[in-house]
Amino acid sequence: MKTRQQIVAGNWKMNKTLAEGCELATEIAQRLKATNAQVVLCTPYIHLPLVHDLIKDVANLNLGAQNCHQEDKGAYTGEISVEMLKSVGVDYVILGHSERREYFGESDELLAKKVDKVLAGGLLPIFCCGESLEIRDADTHIEHVQAQIKAGLFHLSAADFEKVVIAYEPIWAIGTGRTASPEQAQDMHAAIRSLLVEQYGAEIAEATSILYGGSVNGGNAAVLFAQPDVDGGLVGGASLKAEEFITIVEATK
Ligand code: PEP
Repeated sequence: MKTRQQIVAGNWKMNKTLAEGCELATEIAQRLKATNAQVVLCTPYIHLPLVHDLIKDVANLNLGAQNCHQEDKGAYTGEISVEMLKSVGVDYVILGHSERREYFGESDELLAKKVDKVLAGGLLPIFCCGESLEIRDADTHIEHVQAQIKAGLFHLSAADFEKVVIAYEPIWAIGTGRTASPEQAQDMHAAIRSLLVEQYGAEIAEATSILYGGSVNGGNAAVLFAQPDVDGGLVGGASLKAEEFITIVEATK
């Protein structure tokens, strides 16, 4: 039976030259002490093979991509396939980050196809969901996030769904320095988990990792991760500094 895993994933976004990225990965690999959590470095595509070589022998340190294309191969200039990601040692793929949804028009339908492709390739999706400030102010945030999860994931069989990691990231908290309060995070994570119970049953819902993302840092990680339904974090800005990122990893349960 699968058990719930604590996970901290660093989303480097479009930051760091190759040399800077290798330096960051090396420092994280050196500083990471034995941990129960799975740690994932989601680097820009061009960094992946070199970062893979730098972290491959470190227990619990994994490689992640920030996106992939939904087709196997072909005339898709500038895109990267799941097979390509596999060939350089990627384990996890972030899908549906709010920046991809907003700036690149990624729809729920497209994301459902990407989820299928990632799973078919044997990789693990980190599926992002989250509401805008407008939606939160209208008090429809729970329905909104539950609808994103239904549309992106609920076509999956239980066996496939078990491999999915969910990341709740309120858009108003991403890169703004404004985090959800621990109570706001817990309320949403509990609402997500109860939706999963309805669809896949209590055992699978209990075993699903639900990460919180949105201005997580070395100072607030412990209180957020202490919430019963928060199973670690997806971290942007604070993942670019090795020392702070390690503090965040050490804040997991
Ligand atoms: C993110 O982009 O996934 C994120 C959570 O960013 P930040 O931690 O910088 O808010």
